[in-house]
Amino acid sequence: MDPPDILVIGGGIAGLSAAAALSSQAKVTVLEAEEQVGYHSSGRSATMVHYALGDRLVRALTLASRPFFDNPPADFTDVPLGRRMPVLVHAREDERAALDALDAEISLFAKLERLDAAGVHGLCPLLKPDALYGIADFDAMRLDPHALLQGNLRRLRAHGGQLRTGARVTGVEHSNGLWTVTSEKGESHSAPILVNAAGSWADRIAALAEVRPIGLEPKRRTIITFDAPRGTELESLPFAKTIGDELYFAPESGRLFASPMDEVPSEPMDAQPDEYEVALAAFRMEERTTVQVRQIHSKWAGLRTFTPDKHPAVGFAADAEGFFWLAGQGGFGLQTSPAMAAIAAALIFAGGWPVADVAPEALSPARFAAQHA
Ligand SMILES: Cc1cc2nc3c(=O)[nH]c(=O)nc-3n(C[C@H](O)[C@H](O)[C@H](O)COP(=O)(O)OP(=O)(O)OC[C@H]3O[C@@H](n4cnc5c(N)ncnc54)[C@H](O)[C@@H]3O)c2cc1C
Repeated sequence: MDPPDILVIGGGIAGLSAAAALSSQAKVTVLEAEEQVGYHSSGRSATMVHYALGDRLVRALTLASRPFFDNPPADFTDVPLGRRMPVLVHAREDERAALDALDAEISLFAKLERLDAAGVHGLCPLLKPDALYGIADFDAMRLDPHALLQGNLRRLRAHGGQLRTGARVTGVEHSNGLWTVTSEKGESHSAPILVNAAGSWADRIAALAEVRPIGLEPKRRTIITFDAPRGTELESLPFAKTIGDELYFAPESGRLFASPMDEVPSEPMDAQPDEYEVALAAFRMEERTTVQVRQIHSKWAGLRTFTPDKHPAVGFAADAEGFFWLAGQGGFGLQTSPAMAAIAAALIFAGGWPVADVAPEALSPARFAAQHA
């Protein structure tokens, strides 16, 4: 078999979407530690595409990604990548100024409707009466993460690329212009370009490769599911979020899911929910809504991994030839994945810059070099 041109470490959404985008111009091999793709962060998210998340740069990457979700290429998927789900951000009387500020920010990217108390409760009857103001984006979207991961995999394979699962990389060496990675099973692969899309582990991969780390911070977030009150029309409920980062909830497979929006620093690991955050999710649900969380049906946690400035890092490392970073997608890695993959391809193949509203320097991993000097 011909050796690959590009090795990608990580079979989450970052690694798979980049691999799919790169595979039309290069021979790509993806190495994933687990037996299945999307086992870590990419399989544990809230799966939303919306603008109440991150800052202007994150919103610009989201906006640039949206056409892909609405109209995926014909060969990408046989099923829709998601469905419309309104996003409602709600506020109490004392939170009104914060809602105004967010409205102004998001309005640059999406058409919002301003809601009074009647509008808020019309859209989400589960909220307590003190939710007096709201902004709603009726064009927001809930993704099908399985369809998204499988679509990227399908595209990678159609272009002759391959995925190796159960291939945890434990050694990375650079010599004579080639990166050679070795898995714990003893398999090795070499290529001139190595894409580090290892999510929470990306700094660990850099350490193996003797490349300067970025200073990534994985943070745990928890989700619980539970029954909605009898008679709740789940299909019409929005993804409802407090204006401060306290609580979000939405319908989930015939029930409700909720997160206390925790951000607990963590080592890179198979994140598990902690009882405190599980209880906090139930407490905040009862504090903000009329729902009683009598029994928790399921719970999980995942890591959202941030760079020091909370913007993702995509580009070649300044200190190692052919070592390419694709990390730090925080809480927005699914909804920005098409734009991030297009940027990775443009940087690797020296193509035109694909997202006009985002400057390459804002994403360059070189911006973190100074802090380690
Ligand atoms: C609770 C929660 C809610 C979220 N909600 C949203 C949302 O609504 N919208 C949104 O867009 N995003 C959301 N996110 C964020 C999103 O899930 C992440 O940004 C995204 O999944 C990151 O993708 P990734 O590929 O970088 O990481 P991962 O999916 O973690 O993939 C990295 C992969 O690298 C592999 N790996 C690591 N080390 C090695 C090694 N040594 N060898 C081989 N493979 C290795 C891992 O096994 C893993 O599969 C949420 C996240 C959480 C936890």
